[in-house]
Amino acid sequence: MSRPLTVRRGMPRRRAVLLACVVVALCWQPACWAAHVITRIDIRPGHRETAVALFTSDKRPLEANSFSLDDPPRLVFDFAGAGLDPDIPIALPVVAPAVQQIRLGQFSAEPKIARLVVDLSEDSAAPVWEVTAGREPGETLIVLRHSGPAVLGPPTSQVVEGASVVRLAGVGHLRRTVAVLADPPRVYADLTDAVVEDGYKQELSQGAIREIRVGQQTADPRHPVARIVLELRQEQAHVVFADGADLVVAVGPEAWALPLPEYQPSNRLKGRRIVVDPGHGGDDIGAPAVFGRVPKGPFEKDIVLVIGRRLAELLEAEGAAVTMTRDRDVYIGLRERAAIANNIRAHALVSIHCDSSDSPNTLHGTSVYYDHRHSRRFAHVVQEELVEALKTADRGVRNANFAVIRHTRGRGILVEIAYINHKDDRARLVHPSFQERAARAIVRGLVRFLSD
Ligand SMILES: [Zn+2]
Repeated sequence: MSRPLTVRRGMPRRRAVLLACVVVALCWQPACWAAHVITRIDIRPGHRETAVALFTSDKRPLEANSFSLDDPPRLVFDFAGAGLDPDIPIALPVVAPAVQQIRLGQFSAEPKIARLVVDLSEDSAAPVWEVTAGREPGETLIVLRHSGPAVLGPPTSQVVEGASVVRLAGVGHLRRTVAVLADPPRVYADLTDAVVEDGYKQELSQGAIREIRVGQQTADPRHPVARIVLELRQEQAHVVFADGADLVVAVGPEAWALPLPEYQPSNRLKGRRIVVDPGHGGDDIGAPAVFGRVPKGPFEKDIVLVIGRRLAELLEAEGAAVTMTRDRDVYIGLRERAAIANNIRAHALVSIHCDSSDSPNTLHGTSVYYDHRHSRRFAHVVQEELVEALKTADRGVRNANFAVIRHTRGRGILVEIAYINHKDDRARLVHPSFQERAARAIVRGLVRFLSD
């Protein structure tokens, strides 16, 4: 699915001219040449970063020149053209890793330069710093990011869509080792460069997790390791991933419904031309999902479009050149779909469908069809990946002369993800995590097949 990208560089000319006029007009006033006065300083300490906020009387941000000095170790921030309000404190004790105190002074009267010094302790690593504009007008932020170990706070837990989800704030970036142990069944994660101030233990009355424990595993001062243990009521599927700044462990009986970590592409399909063909569309709703009398949406055409779009997105992230036979709710003829693949001499075509049986709630599971012999292995590889990822019944690889794969000259398969008229399969088919897993499984199959 190649869409042209419009990239706009810089700002439109008219806006640039207008901005220049405003700047000239403002600076023409005598006030512009008067010095800033720093009127207020706020310290906002935190586990991972400490922010120092400076405010000016005229609401203009400060311009900083910053550097570090040794003996004793300190960070220096000079603000040209800035004076100090006589009421502002000149020394502030700071409770933050590696920082001892912050001092403020008039470094030079002519030219006017205000100086802020961050005194660091001798024995810990210096923080990384950054100067940015704050949210309020005239607010300048000095952000000090601490490079010491992260402090592990108590985890929070909740049950979401049948999965027990445990969240540890602010430690998603840490190196981790995850393992499963039996007797009693448990999942643990070791987090490097993390300290636990107070051990934590909580029993849970509902969900897959019986007990959560957090403790210090090793206390090596250079690389302390913290461990979180989730004791389970019984063996269960789990996933561990970073969600923003947090670390999340999800455990639940329905492995296919567990949330997935962000997709990490590795450019393994560079230069491959792949056609993604979401079946049906428009007036052709696909296999009916009839449980009572009236067909109920979302229909096969809707589900396969969602999966197809996501598949195309992931394949593009892997570097493939992707063409979709349809990327909206429209009908395309079967021969036309094959012609799209033939015209671009596609390396592979994947036609996506949902299966259905004559009477509802009888058959369920996943199968992949091929027509030409040269697509047989392709079908097997994708079937393996799908069943592994989706935990659906394995209905195997079949040979059939469906029009789309019959008319496709290159490699082509038709995937029946699951049965739309079986209630369990249908619940999966409409679930975003299941759809995501299906798309990722097809990508893995394509990578395996095309890289051989
Ligand atoms: Zn179909």
